[in-house]
Amino acid sequence: MRPENPVFIPGPTNMPEVLRRACDMPTLDHRSAAWGEILRPALAGVARVIEAPADARVLLFPATGTAGWEAALANTLSPGDRVLACENGMFSRRWIAMARALGLEVEELRVPWGEGLPAQRMGEVLAADRGHAIKAVLATHNETATGVVSDIGAIRAAMDAAGHPALLFVDGVSSIGSMPFRMGAWGVDVAVTGSQKGFMLPAGLAILDFRAMAAATEGGGFPYTPPVGLISGLKLSCELLLGEGMEAVFARHRRIAGGVRAAVAGWGLSLCAARPEWRSETVSAVRTPEGFDAGRIVTHAAERYGVAFGVGLGDVAGKVFRIGHLGLLSDVQALAGIATAEMVMADLGLPVRLGSGVAAAQEHYRASAAAMAAAA
Ligand SMILES: *Cc1c(COP(=O)(O)O)cnc(C)c1O
Repeated sequence: MRPENPVFIPGPTNMPEVLRRACDMPTLDHRSAAWGEILRPALAGVARVIEAPADARVLLFPATGTAGWEAALANTLSPGDRVLACENGMFSRRWIAMARALGLEVEELRVPWGEGLPAQRMGEVLAADRGHAIKAVLATHNETATGVVSDIGAIRAAMDAAGHPALLFVDGVSSIGSMPFRMGAWGVDVAVTGSQKGFMLPAGLAILDFRAMAAATEGGGFPYTPPVGLISGLKLSCELLLGEGMEAVFARHRRIAGGVRAAVAGWGLSLCAARPEWRSETVSAVRTPEGFDAGRIVTHAAERYGVAFGVGLGDVAGKVFRIGHLGLLSDVQALAGIATAEMVMADLGLPVRLGSGVAAAQEHYRASAAAMAAAA
């Protein structure tokens, strides 16, 4: 791995130099007024990035996204409570395991890895739960293991159609800040993310948005010593994202993902995401030919070219490698990753012609840049 190369893993993501500097803070009294001037805009910025409703409350924990899940579950549910969850990849699987470890009863739906969450089936389970024993629905918005995005609005609609009062908890760790996440419009009750993905910061902050939890955390301060540098970085991260404009940020990721998909098609390979509407805009999991260990691509890229791609996890370990394209990334950087993946696959004897994916991505980026210039 060489630090001068961008990483192509789906988190932690590449960090803009200005954010790294914003995290480098002298010691600050977290009971001083100066601290409030960092915390308040950071919290307000997060709320805007995820389009939180007015009654939502942003909470920051010195932790990672995984602890954010735990905080969401442990602070709202009690052992013995029922939750509805679906496994469609490694992250949704881990969340289910955590719910069980916390003593929750998980009503689990399984879908093949590569598919999105089945809103309709979830609605049927909720409609059949006439006694409203299910207290919460756990949904992973963007399954980072498979590169699959799910329609959270459709899950909310299914919950409403079933007339079910369960809370909707959404893992937005690999979508928030890079893909549309509309907390208010989708009726999300708790959203979870971490600092090292769409916010382009070091790991270390779990970011949660609770709806209707204002009373529980009145005061606005921090109950213990906050990671001031990270939160200073978060304030600036929100300013960068909102300054670019969230719709422009989403369009950039859509464009970059489009080029990566064009490259994958150019290689004659396919994505793990089984249908176009499930294709993630932040990570592409690429299936390699039967009998070939996809992990070799990741190892070889790191050893020979100093470039990081993501390995396959869980049930798709060895079957896919992942190209992360969230956070700080441009079309031009994406081309470098695509070109590297091509060299690696050629080195390993896969039937990939040098330039085939790069050319397809170049055409995609040329066309989208021309369309943007024409619209401007
Ligand atoms: C990265 C990731 C997590 C885990 O977050 P950590 O910050 O590593 O604990 C959870 N869910 C999804 C979808 C992720 O991509």
